[in-house]
Amino acid sequence: KDASGKYTVSLIEGDGIGPEIAVAVKDIFAAAQTPIAWEPISVDPILKDGKTAIPDAAIESIKRNKIALKGPLATPIGKGHVSLNLTLRRTFNLFANLRPCRSVAGFKTPYDGVDTVLIRENTEGEYSGIEHVVVDGVVQSIKLITREASERVLRYAFEQARAINRKKVRVVHKATIMKMSDGLFLNTAREVAKDFPDIEFDAELLDNTCLKMTTDPTPYNDKVLVMPNLYGDILSDMCAGLIGGLGLTPSGNIGDECSIFEAVHGSAPDIAGKGLANPTALLLSSMMMLRHMGLNEYADKIEKAAFDTLAEGKVLTGDLGGKASTKDYTSAIIDRL
Ligand code: NAD
Repeated sequence: KDASGKYTVSLIEGDGIGPEIAVAVKDIFAAAQTPIAWEPISVDPILKDGKTAIPDAAIESIKRNKIALKGPLATPIGKGHVSLNLTLRRTFNLFANLRPCRSVAGFKTPYDGVDTVLIRENTEGEYSGIEHVVVDGVVQSIKLITREASERVLRYAFEQARAINRKKVRVVHKATIMKMSDGLFLNTAREVAKDFPDIEFDAELLDNTCLKMTTDPTPYNDKVLVMPNLYGDILSDMCAGLIGGLGLTPSGNIGDECSIFEAVHGSAPDIAGKGLANPTALLLSSMMMLRHMGLNEYADKIEKAAFDTLAEGKVLTGDLGGKASTKDYTSAIIDRL
């Protein structure tokens, strides 16, 4: 908090539509007189000892402020350097990825009343990046599960359940097949659950979860789901599909020291620079950020203005079937504030 009572937040505008949706969030925050001062930073990668790294100034900013809001970063495919998103997660040890998906009134999908909360282990599993060729035509990829990382994310899941008033935590797994790795995750969950007697704990097989969720997602509205990395990556996009896609889904990458909030979608190069992007996902990510900072009243106020604008359905961006520009939609939210 600075002398004027504002909290400084690092802002990575990102690539493609990033700067356009970041302006929308900044304008809405200013209109709501949110006590946030933005510190813009660039994470354009540098090479350090032959490895992709984030510039020191950006690292120092995020370490100092502890909170960042991030636009999408374009990942060049197959150019041999690690994705910047992965580099950020590793640099700041952002061990949990929190993905809430709530139906947006006014935007019709095959499902009504969806309100899922999914937590994904963010640092290991199949995404440990340990792969090698055994002999020509045979590749081995290692799924790494540790008790330490499992316990950390599981504990966070139980704490999050308490924080958002959900009485149940469910582990999603495949311990029937991955007996040792998912078995370790599941057994660690059973141990952690003992420290949270007020929260009910159970487990479900991933394939079963997919089947049940796409049949009727509402029984999941009272639970927090927690799972290893790969399952969480896929299932969280499936949940996004239930509420109408990536343009509406926020996320938080949570660490012990720093946390980075971001939209789930990418840099949308096909519409970048045209003023057409939907800023809702980044805006909802910034609401998660405000609540993480304890600034709930601002989050409630802005979120209501955004949801009411969406529900009215008059000023919508193209991805939601409307004709409005990013600016028109932003102004409509600001008018309600
Ligand atoms: P994308 O999410 O950028 O786009 C998919 C489709 O959704 C496009 O048609 C796009 O126009 C549309 N879309 C996405 N966000 C929108 C928004 N806010 N408003 C309106 N329409 C929107 O996915 P992609 O094309 O596969 O990826 C593009 C780039 O983004 C790639 O370089 C990829 O690596 C990167 N990416 C980054 C992140 C991140 O930073 N977290 C996540 C995913 C992809």
